[in-house]
Amino acid sequence: MKRASRSIRSRQAVAYDYCIIGGGVAGTTAAETLRQRDAGATIAVVSDEPHRFYSRILLSKPNFFLGKIPFDQIWLKTLQWYRELKIDLLAGQRATAVDAAAHTVTLDGKKTLRYRKLLIATGAQAVPWPADGADKKGVLYLRTLDDAKQIIAAIKKAKRAVCVGSGFTSFEMCEMLTMAGLQVTLVMREPHYWDPLLDEQSGKMIEAALLSGGVKIHRNALVKTVDGRAKVSGVTLESGQNIPCEVIVAGVGAQPDLSWLQGSTVKTNRGILADEYLKTSAPDVYTAGDCAEFNDLILDEHVLLGNWVNAQMHGKLAAANMLGERQPFKLVSFYTAMGFGLTIAFAGDVRSQGRQVITRGPQGNTFARLIVDEHDELVGATFINRTNELASVCKLIEKNVKVSPIKDKLADPTVDLGTLAR
Ligand SMILES: Cc1cc2nc3c(=O)[nH]c(=O)nc-3n(C[C@H](O)[C@H](O)[C@H](O)COP(=O)(O)OP(=O)(O)OC[C@H]3O[C@@H](n4cnc5c(N)ncnc54)[C@H](O)[C@@H]3O)c2cc1C
Repeated sequence: MKRASRSIRSRQAVAYDYCIIGGGVAGTTAAETLRQRDAGATIAVVSDEPHRFYSRILLSKPNFFLGKIPFDQIWLKTLQWYRELKIDLLAGQRATAVDAAAHTVTLDGKKTLRYRKLLIATGAQAVPWPADGADKKGVLYLRTLDDAKQIIAAIKKAKRAVCVGSGFTSFEMCEMLTMAGLQVTLVMREPHYWDPLLDEQSGKMIEAALLSGGVKIHRNALVKTVDGRAKVSGVTLESGQNIPCEVIVAGVGAQPDLSWLQGSTVKTNRGILADEYLKTSAPDVYTAGDCAEFNDLILDEHVLLGNWVNAQMHGKLAAANMLGERQPFKLVSFYTAMGFGLTIAFAGDVRSQGRQVITRGPQGNTFARLIVDEHDELVGATFINRTNELASVCKLIEKNVKVSPIKDKLADPTVDLGTLAR
């Protein structure tokens, strides 16, 4: 195979042993793992963002946002790192098509890269907010470093903000905007925070924290129109109520962009379909991170997850399998968020509809819910101010422990779950 040159010449396919699309945590971890284990291979990381690898999770943390920690802490790799590891970072270039039979990827509709093994680690993108007038200046999303820079610039001139949606990003956003001195209103269509992933009790605990932090909340509320000419001046709810604001941060979900894979043999559903080895339907094509809808051996179904540790471990494992190993992925995934004095965590599969839910508490300002599937096994959990129990619960989920014999203990908030997980 023809080796990669340091620069891509137009109209000539450059060949790489390993081509990685997406320079986030999954893609970068995979590149690093490949280099550690294959010193002579040619490796490319293609990213449509103009930046090297940075911490996406820091984007929504108040210390970064409010400039309380140096901006440079966002960078997780230096350009020198790519040079030393001989990893070609093709930044600011977008993969627009893959031909798995020919083993080629097209960049920006014109350049072609040939690969021996391909990893697609393109993450997820913010779901566009469908409100009337959502294209006005001042309607913002938080997914990338450039998004964060836009929000930071916008709030310097703003006094009032509306956050749309109830989820991790909105929760953290409400805190950051409040700390930045803005008057914040949260608009959510759900009857309580994070319905249906959280029950009313947990949702209300989060809302109480938001309210005590000064956030106004509109439940069961949909934005009818975004007001203003070219620039946002407020929102009008379907109830007719008007909320003036200069900035709107829409957090209505994230989903992988799979449009560029249409017509390829890489099968997709909500994400890129893969087996437990993170191998897709196409030969020599693997996937990892937020875009991978993989066979989860613990939950025994295909799942699409959105958290840092999962993406990092995916990157490591996909690389091992691209190198010829056959390691199945097995990890109980979790996500934590902090704000307004609360620590919230989700572990495993938190869908509770039609499932048994065992509650721990409320005890003081703490509460946890353990979700049990039809096989009498723990599959997920949600925690408010009980994140010290996260590791034990992950162990119980991983071990497929039968719940019935220990149900009373699980329901007793004074029992140390560590004793059950041993
Ligand atoms: C604001 C925010 C806060 C978060 N906080 C937390 C947290 O506290 N804890 C936690 O566990 N998780 C958190 N997450 C989620 C976590 O960041 C993601 O799960 C993780 O970054 C996923 O990594 P990834 O490598 O799969 O995808 P990404 O990090 O999304 O990287 C994918 C990259 O591929 C690029 N790309 C997409 N399509 C193409 C294409 N066609 N061609 C080239 N490049 C392409 C994307 O632009 C992106 O740069 C947060 C996410 C956000 C947005």
